[in-house]
Amino acid sequence: MTADAVAIARDLVRCRSVTPEDGGALGYLQDVLAKAGFTVHRMTFAEPGTAPIENLYARIGSEKPNLVFAGHTDVVPPGDEAAWHHPPFGGEIAGDRLYGRGAVDMKGGIACFVAAAADYLAANGGMPKRGSISLLITGDEESVAVNGTVKLLQWAAERGEMFDHCILGEPSNVETLGDTIKAGRRGSLNGTLIVTGRLGHVAYPDRADNPIRGLVTLIAALQAPLDDGSAQFAPSNLEFTSIDVGNPTVNLIPGEARARFNIRYNDRHSQPALKALLEQRAHAAAAERVRYAFDWQPSNADVFVTKPGPFTDLAAAAIAEVTGRQPKLSTTGGTSDARFIKDYCPVLEFGLVGQTMHSVDECTPVADLVTLTAVYRRIIEKYFG
Ligand SMILES: [Zn+2]
Repeated sequence: MTADAVAIARDLVRCRSVTPEDGGALGYLQDVLAKAGFTVHRMTFAEPGTAPIENLYARIGSEKPNLVFAGHTDVVPPGDEAAWHHPPFGGEIAGDRLYGRGAVDMKGGIACFVAAAADYLAANGGMPKRGSISLLITGDEESVAVNGTVKLLQWAAERGEMFDHCILGEPSNVETLGDTIKAGRRGSLNGTLIVTGRLGHVAYPDRADNPIRGLVTLIAALQAPLDDGSAQFAPSNLEFTSIDVGNPTVNLIPGEARARFNIRYNDRHSQPALKALLEQRAHAAAAERVRYAFDWQPSNADVFVTKPGPFTDLAAAAIAEVTGRQPKLSTTGGTSDARFIKDYCPVLEFGLVGQTMHSVDECTPVADLVTLTAVYRRIIEKYFG
């Protein structure tokens, strides 16, 4: 039996799996993978204050090396469904495209890997030539990502499951299938700067202390460049996202002013070092005159990079052979579950073209599903030699 990537992608899109709902997506995958010979485990992870989430782990073979594919079946909400020209959960094929929420992010990518693995197994008597193929699929990526990949990896580690290399099927390509492998991601850190002054009447400024003046001084100091980039990363960037005083009164000097910011940082920083750097800049700019404090939000999105080597070379060669394009290794974009997987094994991201992800009329060319399946098939073939 050779599974058909387009049919699997269409069937998955028809599952209404807006986080935390599963909509039957993992049950469907379980059937397809079991038919291809995989041993499939299903587990529901929960935690107080969050919705329970369904997850799946499948493996065929018991030896090393274990090549694992990671992905998520949950999708972001469709927004106003009336704005779609093709229903978001219809899985319609119109012209040369498959439409629907998740078509590129990332039910399409999952479908391609499942089809490629099934085809490889069918061509090799039902088992990998050596080693193992496995899949880590979660339903909790697009939202808080608490009951998904983090717990799935812990569950696997407790069972003694070891991973050697991982392909995460996020839509990594920018314009054309084959243009980009993601081999790392910037870290993300959120903070709030709070400046305290003294409340008072605007007509008597000598009796008050306006915190907005101090806040402006500190904001200017914090916006100085953080670095000039590194071998694999663009310069780190700090963006202020909100300035909040919340003062409705025209003749009142406020007592406090706040500013929120986000930092996307590269591999020249760690979170503790970055916090120390900004606190030191604020300290210098405050010059004992401005009373301030930082409130740092906890972040599980640390920077990481998968250095170029045999694994990235193998994937790039497979992509070039199938598409005729030499992919570039990129570290741009937001965070992904690769930030968790990187603690277990080297991970790279390669999937469909990301242009329509999260938008109305999300879609992928059917031809891209066929090509991506061929790329994954080629990667598997090369990996197991
Ligand atoms: Zn995604």
